[in-house]
Amino acid sequence: MEKIQVNLKNRQSTIIVGECLNNLEKYIRGRKCFIITDSNVNRLYRDRFPSCPVYVVKPGEKSKDLKVSAGICRWLLENGADRGSFITGIGGGVVCDLAGFVAATFMRGLSFGFVATTLLAQVDAAIGGKNGVNLDGYKNIIGTFSQPEFVICDVDLLISLPEKEYVNGMAEVIKHALIRDKHQFDHLEGYNIPILARDRNEMELIVGHSARIKAAIVGDDELEHGERRKLNLGHTWGHAVEKVTSLPHGEAVSIGLAFSAQLSVNKGLLKEEERDRILDLLSSYDLPVKNDADPSAVFSAMVMDKKKEGGAIHFILMDGIGSVVVEQTDVDELRNFALYGN
Ligand code: ADP
Ligand code: ZN
Repeated sequence: MEKIQVNLKNRQSTIIVGECLNNLEKYIRGRKCFIITDSNVNRLYRDRFPSCPVYVVKPGEKSKDLKVSAGICRWLLENGADRGSFITGIGGGVVCDLAGFVAATFMRGLSFGFVATTLLAQVDAAIGGKNGVNLDGYKNIIGTFSQPEFVICDVDLLISLPEKEYVNGMAEVIKHALIRDKHQFDHLEGYNIPILARDRNEMELIVGHSARIKAAIVGDDELEHGERRKLNLGHTWGHAVEKVTSLPHGEAVSIGLAFSAQLSVNKGLLKEEERDRILDLLSSYDLPVKNDADPSAVFSAMVMDKKKEGGAIHFILMDGIGSVVVEQTDVDELRNFALYGN
């Protein structure tokens, strides 16, 4: 078991890798707790939840919705929640976002924690204190920065995860290695068979490592003024691919990572051999590195996305394996690359 501290200005957030869902009660510390989960996790693991009221949402992105969060707030009121109550989200990225958002806003904010049950949530979504819900098709458009007291990463829960969901999470694991950790990249190259077979020790190693990278970046820049932007590696193009193709998030990010690697080569930042290692690694985890979507449609979606964020496109490029730079990139140059040079 490994404890990782996210060092923040106002409070501490602790990620506990290798802890067991059965020990959740210990972290609730006698407070009146309300659990939020989805129906898959509820079906698989309800018998291991502590005895608290449980609100069960439908699985999937549609539950990350303002109306769903209002329903949960109503339920909290009906069940006597007050300012001293505690919220625990048990689930993947969707449940953690939703539970975090409700906790951060109900009665101006309750303390909360997570048991992250997907690989993506354990290494990424549950860490960092960003909580949001969608509105009218705009993703995470309403949300808060608010940190969970704890994130329990029980790697044994990942055994029941559908193959596609597990691989989806690997895209973020690879992304973190590319941002800050060449050793982790080497490890992922050498151990893809046991990692894909979900060997327990390997899962604990990669989740610990990856969570530590995210925690360090968040600790450096909680409110995303600079360093935290690096976490967008593969996501600028990836989000647009996701929008146009409806591919799962991890697969779209994988295509975005490949895009960023090639652009980095074109700009003379990354060696061709390094790009090839990156593409081979993604492929060895069954992640796609290209797709058939019309590049001009993806490009337009990307520009639209960025306009909402205020115009300039900050592209995250790789200047080696385990190191990235944030570059403000010219839109015409990007269009040329996306349409002809990729
Ligand atoms: P993500 O973590 O990828 O953002 P979700 O929260 O939507 O995504 O979870 C992905 C899917 O996996 C959902 O259908 C969810 O119910 C299911 N799920 C979550 N955790 C587990 C688990 N430990 N075992 C099996 N299925 C799970
Ligand atoms: Zn992502």
